[in-house]
Amino acid sequence: MKHSLVTGGAGFIGSHLVEALLDRGDRVSVIDNESTGSVENLARIIDHERLSYTKGTVADRDLVRESLEGVDEVYHLAAAVGVELIARSPIHTIETNIYPTELILSELDRRHQQGQAVKLFLASTSEVYGKNPMKLYAEEDDLVFGPTTRARWSYGASKAIDEFLALAYWREHRLPVVVGRFFNVVGPRQSPAYGMVLPRFVEAALAGRKLTVHDDGHQVRCFAYVLDIVRLVMELMQNSEATGRVFNIGSDEPVEILELARRVIRAVDPAADVDARTEFISYAEAYSPDFEDCRHRVPDLSRLYETVEFRPIFGLDETISRVLDWKQSESRG
Ligand code: UDP
Repeated sequence: MKHSLVTGGAGFIGSHLVEALLDRGDRVSVIDNESTGSVENLARIIDHERLSYTKGTVADRDLVRESLEGVDEVYHLAAAVGVELIARSPIHTIETNIYPTELILSELDRRHQQGQAVKLFLASTSEVYGKNPMKLYAEEDDLVFGPTTRARWSYGASKAIDEFLALAYWREHRLPVVVGRFFNVVGPRQSPAYGMVLPRFVEAALAGRKLTVHDDGHQVRCFAYVLDIVRLVMELMQNSEATGRVFNIGSDEPVEILELARRVIRAVDPAADVDARTEFISYAEAYSPDFEDCRHRVPDLSRLYETVEFRPIFGLDETISRVLDWKQSESRG
C-alpha cells in the first residue's frame, strides 16, 4: 500500500486529490493550516481508516519531518491562492509560497541522501507565465512579469522560485520531482472568497444578483474540472518519464469571461436577459489602481498528452452545471 502525503489537503484541489488517492487504495496523510482550506472539504472521508489529518503548517520543520516518516509520495499543494488575496496580502503570499517548499525539498533531500527516494509533486501555476503575450503557453516559454511594485506578480515570481529550486534538486541531486502548472481549475468546494471567477458568477446568478465582469470581459481563460486535473496529476506521478520535468495541466478550451458569464446565467435561467444580468467594473475598482491582468491564457498541452494517456472528460458546460448542482445542494444543506 502506498503512503501519500498531501499538503493543503483540506483545500479545494487538495481535498479532491485526497479522495482520489484513498479510492486508489493509498494511505493518505494531510497537513493543512485551514487558512483558505477547511476541514469541511474532507467531511465525507474524515473518519476514513486510511486517512490521517493534521491541522498545522508546512512551515513547521518538526511537523514536516515527522509527517514524511514512511511516506512514498508527496503532493505539495499548500500555497497562497486567489489573485484577490494575493493582491491584498503579498507578504503572506511570498512567505507561504517560498519557505515551505524549500523546507519540504530539503527534508526530502535529507531522506534521499539516506537512500529513501520520495517523489514530490510540486503544484505550480499558470501565473508563472505572467503577462507573456503569446497566444499559447508552452512549458519552455519565457516568464514575463511586470514590475516588483505591482503585487500581483509576486505570486508567479514566488512560484517560479519554487520551480527553480525543485528542478535544481533534481538536476544536482537526482531528487525525483514533477512540476505541474495548474491553469484555471474549477469545481465543487472552490470558494468565491478569494476572487475566483466561476464560483463568484455561480453564487451571483443563483442569488439573482448581477454578475460582475472585470474590464471589457474579453480576457480569455480555460477552465478545467477538478476531477480531470486530479486524474492527470496522479497519472503524471506514476510515470517515470515525467520526473524532473514541468507540465502545463488544465483545459485548452478557451472562453472569454463575458461568454462565461452568459453561459452561467443561461444555465440558471435559459430565458434570462443576459445583458441585464451583467455589470462591468474596471480592474482598478475590482482589485487596486495598479492592477495588471493577464489578458489571454491558454495552455499548450502537447507535452502533457505525450506523457499521459488520460484525457479530460468534462467540457465547460458540464463543469458549470456540476458547480451549479453543488452550490444548490450546499445551500439546501
Ligand atoms: N473576473 C471577473 N469577475 C470576477 C472575478 C474575476 O471578471 O468576479 C475576471 C478576472 O479579472 C480575470 C478572470 O476573470 O480576468 C479570471 O479570474 P480568476 O481570479 O478566476 O483567475 P485568474 O485571474 O487567476 O486567471
